[in-house]
Amino acid sequence: MKTFGDVVAFHGHACPGLALGYRVSLYALKMLGDRASDEELTATVENSSCAVDAVQVLTGCTFGKGNLIFRDYGKHVYTFIGRPSGEGIRISVDWISPEETEEEKSMWERYMKGDRSEEVLNMVHNRKAKKIDIIMNAKDDKLFTVAKSGMVLPEEARIYPSVRCAGCNEKVMEPRARLRDGKIVCIPCFENR
Ligand SMILES: [Zn+2]
Ligand SMILES: [Zn+2]
Repeated sequence: MKTFGDVVAFHGHACPGLALGYRVSLYALKMLGDRASDEELTATVENSSCAVDAVQVLTGCTFGKGNLIFRDYGKHVYTFIGRPSGEGIRISVDWISPEETEEEKSMWERYMKGDRSEEVLNMVHNRKAKKIDIIMNAKDDKLFTVAKSGMVLPEEARIYPSVRCAGCNEKVMEPRARLRDGKIVCIPCFENR
C-alpha cells in the first residue's frame, strides 16, 4: 500500500486537498479492493485539484491508463467502479475547514497582498499543517458521504468560493455553478442528469 509520503513525493508538496484525496482513495480501496494494476478499477473525478494526484498514486487509476475519467464539474466527488463487477461507490467530500481565527484572517489578508514576512509565512504553513492533520485523523463520516454508484461504466491560485446546489445540496465551486429558475445549481443538476 502506498503511503501519504509516497503521495506527497509524487505531488510535490503536502496540502489539505492532497490529504482529502488520500482519504477518499483509502476508503475506496477498503470498499472495492486492491490497487488497479491494470484496469480493474475505474475512477471518475469531478475536479482537477490536488486531490486527484492522490487518487492516481493510491488507486492506480491514471489518465495515461484511461481508467481515470475527468468530468469538469468543479465538485469534490469521486466515483469508483470495479471491473468487471460494475460495483461502485460515489464519494462526495463534505468536509468543512475549521473557522479561521481573527489573527489567521488578518495574516491571510497580508499573505494575499504579497506579504512574505516570516510571521505571515509561518502562519500560512501552520494553518495548512493543522488542516492536513485534522483531515488525516478524521473519521470517514466527518469527511464525506458515500452512496452506491448508479453510474454506467463508460491550488493556491485556483481557490474559488463554494456554493451549494439547490438541486442535490452538494457543494460546487462558483465558476461552475449555473442558474435555473433563479436558483443556483450544479452542472449535472442543470443538465438534469
Ligand atoms: Zn497540492
Ligand atoms: Zn446539484
